[in-house]
Amino acid sequence: MRRCTSADGPYDEEDVPRVVEDLEVSGRVLVQAPDGLKGIAREVADILEGKGCEVVLDAGRVFGACDVTPGMAAGADYLLHLGHYPIPEVEEELRRLGVRPIFLPTRGRKAVEEWMVEEAAEILRSAGVEEVDLCATAQHVHELDRVARLLEREGIRAHVGRGDPGRVPEPGLVLGCNFSCLENRPVVIVCSGRFHPLGARLRTGQPVVQIDPTRGVIDPESLEESVRRVLAVRLSKIREFDPEEDVEVVGSTCIGQRREDVLKALGGARWEVRYLTEDVLRSLRCDQCIYCGCPRVPVDEAARFKRWVVLNPAEVAAALQGAQGYRLDEIPADRGVLRALRGLRNGSAADDVPGGGS
Ligand code: SF4
Repeated sequence: MRRCTSADGPYDEEDVPRVVEDLEVSGRVLVQAPDGLKGIAREVADILEGKGCEVVLDAGRVFGACDVTPGMAAGADYLLHLGHYPIPEVEEELRRLGVRPIFLPTRGRKAVEEWMVEEAAEILRSAGVEEVDLCATAQHVHELDRVARLLEREGIRAHVGRGDPGRVPEPGLVLGCNFSCLENRPVVIVCSGRFHPLGARLRTGQPVVQIDPTRGVIDPESLEESVRRVLAVRLSKIREFDPEEDVEVVGSTCIGQRREDVLKALGGARWEVRYLTEDVLRSLRCDQCIYCGCPRVPVDEAARFKRWVVLNPAEVAAALQGAQGYRLDEIPADRGVLRALRGLRNGSAADDVPGGGS
């Protein structure tokens, strides 16, 4: 697999401090890590201070490589981000801001075991499936070659797609907002949690078999109840949206969530936040919000926003078009979504809007 970014690794979590010992860094370093790696980030900060660096630790939730703002990066010589592969377009923007990005992705604590692949293959065979799209999250993407070989041994042909190079640096890597490595086959996904399998199912409409190295194999039917629940809420919110009523547009300050294509298509003034919360929505005093940051926030955090109609751009497009089905919103946005959004505010001309890819 070819790497096209500043990331090396992936590393076992306990090896990260040793890797940082060997890094040549100086000046001011912004250190970021997801919650599960905050302890290691503290250790890393001590090591960097020992090297004479001035260290700033980001106390935010840090959901992905998208989650750095220009304000946080201002004045930093380096960004040291633990746990995720880089998003290439975020790296590019950081370099433009004069910040050198270093991403240290980490492996999941448990690896895929052979029996898990055999069980997944059994589920697929019993459903008559012979070919799948194989993908994984950052913690497991390094296992895909081995899993693909094991699946082939079991008679299942596995395709590992390249995906959108601006957004995903590794073949087979999925983000919650980008499933571009998937085509239109049933999916085998290696990951923990339900966030990414749900995204893969909504994106493709195909059955999703999950190999979770900590919990075992989860068959497609187990996901369907969550899919039904999520779709019921989303389709109801889409129907509730009224373009004739007041609506506020809220963008994200995070570099990897700044969706200039959709913001431009929507036109007009917008608010900006790092995290969308109930307090933010209360302060806007508006019942409807188009959230143009992480597109999964309105979907996966819907329970927090029950009082409001909070939609992502693809959902707004669906409301405007009276669409019957559901389209998962992804970054970059689909061209059809951008076209529909332009109608909302009689906004910019078609030629002004950059095209989407997924
Ligand atoms: S925008 Fe959302 S889904 Fe995409 S990488 Fe960031 S946190 Fe994950």
